[in-house]
Amino acid sequence: MLGNIGKIRFMTIQLHDTLQGRKVAFQPLKDGEVTMYLCGPTVYNYAHIGNARPAVVFDLLARVLRRRYRLTFARNITDVDDKIIAASLESGRPIEEITAKYARIYNEDMAALGVQPPDVEPYATQHIDVMIAMIASLIESGHAYEADGHVLFNVESHEAYGELSKRDLREMIAGSRVEVAPYKKAPQDFVLWKPSEDGQPGWDSPWGRGRPGWHIECSAMAEKHLGDTIDIHAGGQDLVFPHHENECAQSRCAHGGAPFARYWLHNGFLSIDQTKMSKSLGNVLLVHDLLEKMPGEVIRLALLSAHYRQPLDWSGETIESARRMLDRLYGAVRGIEVSEAARAAAEVPAALIEALEDDLNTPRAMAVFFALARSLNKTDDPVEQEALAAQMYAAGDLIGLLGNDPEEWFAGHVEGEVPSDQIEALIAKRNEARANKDWAAADGYRDQLHDMGIAIEDGPTGTTWRRTG
Ligand code: AMP
Ligand code: ZN
Repeated sequence: MLGNIGKIRFMTIQLHDTLQGRKVAFQPLKDGEVTMYLCGPTVYNYAHIGNARPAVVFDLLARVLRRRYRLTFARNITDVDDKIIAASLESGRPIEEITAKYARIYNEDMAALGVQPPDVEPYATQHIDVMIAMIASLIESGHAYEADGHVLFNVESHEAYGELSKRDLREMIAGSRVEVAPYKKAPQDFVLWKPSEDGQPGWDSPWGRGRPGWHIECSAMAEKHLGDTIDIHAGGQDLVFPHHENECAQSRCAHGGAPFARYWLHNGFLSIDQTKMSKSLGNVLLVHDLLEKMPGEVIRLALLSAHYRQPLDWSGETIESARRMLDRLYGAVRGIEVSEAARAAAEVPAALIEALEDDLNTPRAMAVFFALARSLNKTDDPVEQEALAAQMYAAGDLIGLLGNDPEEWFAGHVEGEVPSDQIEALIAKRNEARANKDWAAADGYRDQLHDMGIAIEDGPTGTTWRRTG
């Protein structure tokens, strides 16, 4: 795995592949080119902070891959789905209006987190013909069957079914407690096409007017834009089964058994204060709301602070710690002029790249980043200062941090941040109210500050404040 070119030692990129269950050396199908597919959002509401984790993590992987390869990165938009139909019925708004609105908001919110746009952003509704062709070929080869207006994938026709999620089909069938639709041959058979009622979105097909199942959407879009075998397929851990297992089965059967993805990558789950995020618990944090309270970089770094395969707990402490880390980084480069030439000449420290190329080890990469900040803090030599600061900006460009002006950062003038002078003005008003013994008004100002994510403390020398996110 270690190679030598002259004096330069290089390692291949290491990635953890879910199918092989271990970290392996990454080798793309074609020399110098990489294809990557990430299952994108179903656009019927705002993205929550858990949804942002795969977007940010695999954006970083895309950035790392682009240093070495010509990357084609596809992240789809699921704009036909029963949840979207339900949202339309509930709100009385047309489906197209809902999907266009939330796709736009998703992209704006992800951009605020430093997520670069993918190379291709296919919409499911624009690929219905590809899906119909794939389903027809699966029927023809005996891997799918038509029943009661539906088309189903026949899991027993695919020997390797269960390979990705390490499930045994026989055991699954035997232990199946799913209520089985009468038209299914096996309980695990899943829908490729289903009939649409009047008023539901539908397209004409050889099996009547209907719409695709979710799994076939990704298989068809990946085939169309990236080919039969893709290098990397990514998504959150919960997608391994059934979504990715089913995508894999369909695509392999449609392509004469060829591998679907050479590497399967899955991010761990994000919890809130050690609790599963769920609507019923009322603890769903929307990216859109978080961005009102803090800069996107704080959220980005918080999402990258744990290794992507580990669980990540989101709490006040996660946010504060990300903010402190950014303060340290911005503090190091603050006041140092870096010329265009110095920036262009600067390279990202090799140890930082090595950490990222080692299955995206962000905690190790950040440790290198801080070591660089410490070296910069220690030196008084202006030439060295400029060179080190330029390296910090190069590292920031790669990870998607340090995109703001340091002075603006500390003045709280970064987008999403409540400016410090506004906070201090409110504190002054509160102190005035207190001096006038107007306790109700004083409490009102405290609450207002609290809602802005600002904690205040009264001490012998006056009132101090800090951001809590
Ligand atoms: P969904 O809209 O539910 O299909 O989710 C979109 C993406 O977000 C998928 O890749 C999910 O695996 C991922 N995801 C959803 N919830 C979480 C969570 N709590 N933590 C991490 N990833 C999540
Ligand atoms: Zn998918």
